[in-house]
Amino acid sequence: MSERVITSLTNDTVKGVRALHMRKERDLTGTFLAEGLKFIGEALDQGRAPRMLLVGEDARPHPLLDRAKAATLKAGGDIIVVTHAILEKISRRDNPQTVLGVFEQAYAALDSLNPASAPCWVALEQVRDPGNLGTIIRTADAAGCGGVILIGDCVDPYSVEAVRATMGSVFAVSITKTTPETFLTWRKRWPGSVVGTRLDAKVSHRSAVMQRPSLILMGNEQAGLTDDLASACDVNVKIPMRGRADSLNLAIATGIMVYAATDEA
Ligand code: SAM
Repeated sequence: MSERVITSLTNDTVKGVRALHMRKERDLTGTFLAEGLKFIGEALDQGRAPRMLLVGEDARPHPLLDRAKAATLKAGGDIIVVTHAILEKISRRDNPQTVLGVFEQAYAALDSLNPASAPCWVALEQVRDPGNLGTIIRTADAAGCGGVILIGDCVDPYSVEAVRATMGSVFAVSITKTTPETFLTWRKRWPGSVVGTRLDAKVSHRSAVMQRPSLILMGNEQAGLTDDLASACDVNVKIPMRGRADSLNLAIATGIMVYAATDEA
């Protein structure tokens, strides 16, 4: 509810923000770290104000920074002015962003999703790489997908690495967590096509009929899509590969699929 200055690297608030690199702390507090004015601008555009705004003492004046400060105070958050050394320590980077925000995590409940509100949705089974997940959230946003559903034991979408890779789309895309069992029951009510992606599929992604809204299922980076989920799909497809690579990167394959599913004729 105030603006204050912190210069000590061992200050408890600094330690608390730094601990957001750890999943345990993020889970405990329900918060995450977003770095840079671009991210904070995306959050404000989605009506999300930071719980805490950390501003480097060397931050240049900017209208967006003024907006972020006003929104933080209005929402009852804290504005903290910190040294460059503190920003480096929190970001674990030599060239940190000069503005950081601590935000509340947001998850949409599976039953609250409205499939018809978008032409395409993405479901990921046990995605493990934070860079892949962040890139998929960014790509889902760009393609106009309704949201990303995380099935089973997935990497945290609010990890610092995943959030960085979203380039701000973490605030624009709805994120849902569920178990395989709950997903399989919920999937029975899906009004369009449920499309699995498998390397052993016989149908090419271009020739498959995808009835909107399409729900695209992507598998784990190592193991691929499990038989349980693949057999619950209306169709399983393969993106043709013409060289020696035996698979595509998960985020690239997701990009190809969501654009195929949302292409206007
Ligand atoms: N060894 C794994 C396998 O056998 O499925 C490779 C997994 S691949 C790196 C990760 C995910 O990306 C797959 O589960 C699938 O969803 C998608 N994927 C990658 N290449 C694909 C392709 N050519 N066609 C369809 N999906 C693909």
